[in-house]
Amino acid sequence: MSEPSEFEATLRARAGAVCELCSATDGLTVHELPPAAEPSPDHCVLLCPTCLSQIDRSAPLDPKHWFCLQQAAWSEVPAVQVIAYRLLSRLSEEGWARDLLDQVYLADETLEWARAGLDTDAGQASDPPGSRTVDSNGTELADGDSVTLIKDLDVKGAGFTAKRGTLVKGIRLTDNPEHVEGRVNKVSIVLKTCFLKKAV
Ligand SMILES: [Zn+2]
Repeated sequence: MSEPSEFEATLRARAGAVCELCSATDGLTVHELPPAAEPSPDHCVLLCPTCLSQIDRSAPLDPKHWFCLQQAAWSEVPAVQVIAYRLLSRLSEEGWARDLLDQVYLADETLEWARAGLDTDAGQASDPPGSRTVDSNGTELADGDSVTLIKDLDVKGAGFTAKRGTLVKGIRLTDNPEHVEGRVNKVSIVLKTCFLKKAV
């Protein structure tokens, strides 16, 4: 980004000089949310090192730390809403995170941005590209496995919602480790692995 210091000043003013997620005050840095069309403070959040390390996946997610999202998710700042949404998606194994994800309201535009970034975020995962396909718990998936949905999913174009808990048998892996194919309501659809759990 071109003017980091100016950004930082804007963000510090907006955030009240605390981490916009957990309110920590030390070591705050500017984090730009992908995908950002152009550098702008509107596309950035001010974060502490603890939050940042888990967001950029250099540290494992600590669900307890993210209780702070119960407040942050209600922020009026779209960038904070977006990052909270993405984190809650990654935490959707946690009952409270799933409930919160169901409750928070995001404007259509913000939601689109939040979802677009789910791909980008996952693309920055520590595993090398083209690596294993894993479910939301990191359990490896293989052709023919059965999975359950951990989230209600709107099936675009098919006009129905695949409900959380739906069992999908005989999935097929795709070239993209974040996507598998499966049949729901007799329709073959692409499922994002972050919304799946391997059925045992
Ligand atoms: Zn923080």
